[in-house]
Amino acid sequence: METATDITLVLLAAGSSTRFGLPAKKQWLYQGREPLWLRVAENFEAAAPFARIVIVGAPDELAYMRLFAPEYRYVPGGSSRQASLRNALTEVETPWVLVNDIARCCLDPALLERLLTHKNEAACIVPALPAVDTVYYRNTPVDRGEIRLIQTPQLSRSAVLRRALEKGDFTDESSAIHALGEKVVLIEGSPRAHKLTTPEDLARLECLEAPASEPLVGMGLDTHAFEAGKAMILGGISIDSPFGFKAHSDGDVAVHALIDALLGAAGMGDIGEHFPDNDPRWKGADSMRLLEAVVSRIRGCGLTLRNVDLSILAETPRLSPYKEQMRTRLAAGLGLPASRVNVKATTSEKMGFVGRKEGITVHAVATLGYFNWKEHL
Ligand code: MG
Repeated sequence: METATDITLVLLAAGSSTRFGLPAKKQWLYQGREPLWLRVAENFEAAAPFARIVIVGAPDELAYMRLFAPEYRYVPGGSSRQASLRNALTEVETPWVLVNDIARCCLDPALLERLLTHKNEAACIVPALPAVDTVYYRNTPVDRGEIRLIQTPQLSRSAVLRRALEKGDFTDESSAIHALGEKVVLIEGSPRAHKLTTPEDLARLECLEAPASEPLVGMGLDTHAFEAGKAMILGGISIDSPFGFKAHSDGDVAVHALIDALLGAAGMGDIGEHFPDNDPRWKGADSMRLLEAVVSRIRGCGLTLRNVDLSILAETPRLSPYKEQMRTRLAAGLGLPASRVNVKATTSEKMGFVGRKEGITVHAVATLGYFNWKEHL
């Protein structure tokens, strides 16, 4: 393999996958125990010794991504591919930069070798494939021998790319550099660099590996004191009670414990990090909305909910008449069948603060799994 020590690899993994149509974002489809973005980075790293690897991720996922591989640089994505790329270039100190879209997830080492071999021949080295189908432009067939389909990764001179990206909006580096009047060289692309766009593509991409099947377990615990005259919301439902809970939000101590169990299983920290209680946005917040936001984040990051179990410790009010209603409400918020959402209520036998009727404590456990995208082939 040619040297790559004067090249920074940029991996674009900030997309929202809105067209993809599965709950998990493409970059978070698990390969064994690793998200796709990490697998791709490792495959590149194994193929060539890059000076640095820069991962562009969704701004609110960067801290989580860093936990998987602290040795890479992480950069927040922008509102477009080009904005993301501009952000990434702030971390590029080498004369060359290799940019790959996470959707081109199957690395062909022979293609990488070709890119490196042709380095120094132009400002941008671009893999391209011939058109194999007949091609029409508007209503007229054109000579398909003149058509080339452009892929990534593309190898660009960093300084030229920086200038090119200031000149307009482009769908890739080669068109930006071409528009600047700098030399672009097309080299033979690879069918392995096919882009993951729809779930149907998952079956075409032979490098993909099924996710591991192990469960991830998390626990959550929350306590709130009673406050007279406030409405009591517990487990997402209204409870008939002369007092509610002292809290910044609606004080739904059961949902808070559940959120912590879910975040715990995902390795995503705790409720206070996601919804700080000094943030006015969460004042009086409906905790079910917070739960739904957490569930959507967990699903987006390639994980799936399996079951949850709650134990509510309360001397008062009497909760047994509400357990089934809580189960139904929580199941709807979690997108789980009621059989996978268990709600238990118990007292603390008049001992401690719960026994003295000062407040309520809730313990929750949640199990997650890796989203099995193979079931969607
Ligand atoms: Mg709380």
